[in-house]
Amino acid sequence: MKAAVLVSPGKISDRPLCIEEVPQPEPGAGQVLLRVLACGVCRTDLHIVEGELPSLRSPLIPGHQIAGEIIGGATAELSIGSRVGVSWIGGTDGACWYCRNNLENLCDSPTFTGYSVNGGYAEFAVARSDFVFPLPASLDPLHAAPLLCAGIIGFRSLRVAGVEPGERVGLFGFGASAHLAIEVLRAWRCEVYVATRGASHRKLAESLGAKWVGSETEKPPVELDRAITFAPSGDVVISALASLRKGGVVAINAIHLDRMPEFDYDRLLWGERQIRSVANMTRVDARDFLKLAADIHLRPKVTTFALDQANEALAAIKGDAIDGAAVIIP
Ligand SMILES: [Zn+2]
Ligand SMILES: [Zn+2]
Repeated sequence: MKAAVLVSPGKISDRPLCIEEVPQPEPGAGQVLLRVLACGVCRTDLHIVEGELPSLRSPLIPGHQIAGEIIGGATAELSIGSRVGVSWIGGTDGACWYCRNNLENLCDSPTFTGYSVNGGYAEFAVARSDFVFPLPASLDPLHAAPLLCAGIIGFRSLRVAGVEPGERVGLFGFGASAHLAIEVLRAWRCEVYVATRGASHRKLAESLGAKWVGSETEKPPVELDRAITFAPSGDVVISALASLRKGGVVAINAIHLDRMPEFDYDRLLWGERQIRSVANMTRVDARDFLKLAADIHLRPKVTTFALDQANEALAAIKGDAIDGAAVIIP
């Protein structure tokens, strides 16, 4: 099969992914074999390919937002031909304290799709059958793929921030995850304040119903109940924190930050403000979000790339050149 393979991480401008023929994977016990119909491109893929996250296997096929069709390893619930999604959490041990306490997103021994095991930048992929999610019939694979990490983890970020219907919520950064989160927030009748770089991102935020849109250095005109940051930047976290009312929460939706700047505790954190990170996702998050996405007719804005263009897709993410989500169609 054709796949985009990473042997050694490097700057995306040096095209570290090689497009080549590799053996088609065989499903093992408890696994399904998928024909990949679409695979979303996530900023985490960029961090893996550029080596900002430590390498866990080589060679590696990245990609963890796989919309696929089951062609092998079918079970009673997952029949041949059914369409499923695979996300970042490819499996957990089911045994550690976190797994036993409904916190499988924090499992001590997780499997990460497209990072510790091969992912979906390929024509075929295998996945644990208990970690694939049936896709709503109303969603075609192209539009389902970006929901599988950007969507689910964006949704988890809203949960971690403790968003209640009708609240004032800030989104700092407006890429693949935020442009889906805003639609969930609008469905919950929240007022959404978006601070982001790039005129086209600001325009997209406006068209999706943001109450206020500003640049990354502008401060929303009101105090926010919650804020979610999406940019891999500690300065953005501080901007978000500075926008909160007392008791407000910042949730950081980023697996990697450039650094965490020193900040003034008395002015920014005192008053029971909180900063929380968002780590991974649970299967409950995935199922709840996919159901909600179908209910509110969530339809991501997508830009498609061929598998041959995997390096270009990641370069576009790095350059903030995509409105909405990038998706590879193998
Ligand atoms: Zn565990
Ligand atoms: Zn992701």
